[in-house]
Amino acid sequence: MSKKYKGKTCVYCCTPNASQTADHVIARQFLLERRRDNLPKVPACLACNNEKSALEHYLATVLPFGGTHPDAGETLQSMLPGRLEKNRKLHLQLAQGMEQRYSSPAGAPWVPTLTLPFDGASLTKLYEFIARGLAFAHWNLLLPPETCLVRATFIRDDMPMFQQLLERNANRRVQIALGNGVFVYEGAQAAQPPELTIWKMSLAGAQFLTDQAGQTATAAYVLTGPRGMRAAVDIVRILDRGVPSPVPQG
Ligand SMILES: [Zn+2]
Repeated sequence: MSKKYKGKTCVYCCTPNASQTADHVIARQFLLERRRDNLPKVPACLACNNEKSALEHYLATVLPFGGTHPDAGETLQSMLPGRLEKNRKLHLQLAQGMEQRYSSPAGAPWVPTLTLPFDGASLTKLYEFIARGLAFAHWNLLLPPETCLVRATFIRDDMPMFQQLLERNANRRVQIALGNGVFVYEGAQAAQPPELTIWKMSLAGAQFLTDQAGQTATAAYVLTGPRGMRAAVDIVRILDRGVPSPVPQG
């Protein structure tokens, strides 16, 4: 590993001098092999890297089923059989757990929808890792767990609150599409305090049922802020941390 990463502060747990690895903030396995250019990398300790890798492995296997992005179909055909072959337990769990539920995308008429058993907490957990990674990659901003809240949530598509937060005057702003648009994100940072940031992320165009009666969500929002800041704490308190489940396409 290059000196650029070794011995640096881990951007995830913020332990100083702990970095032993250079972590791809957006895991390469989410993207087709020919579309892995310019992925942001950050210093990470081994423990955080391992924890994040386990989430990525699980999600890279499950999420393509819910993807509406054209590359998700190619991923299913070309890369997924190998991944499932290596993880027969997950394969079986997905096959047995598929069920029909009803959804109402953005208030449209209710339609029957296939859903997969899905550990939604693993996706919000990964998005929290990614927000920390992107805050550092773009703005050199560290968000230590002891002093900062970082919270991801799926909000149904017709709830404007977070979109409004994202569109407010910002000190810095970033908007990027990686891997032919498979991972799309936007971030905005407040002038004060700098730890106050909001992110919107979507992966493979995957759709999720939120637990708000059949409502779907295509993007997650991640809010970060100082633990001592009343507004940040209040927003986090009212966040719906519903467990999303992906809607397979096609
Ligand atoms: Zn760490």
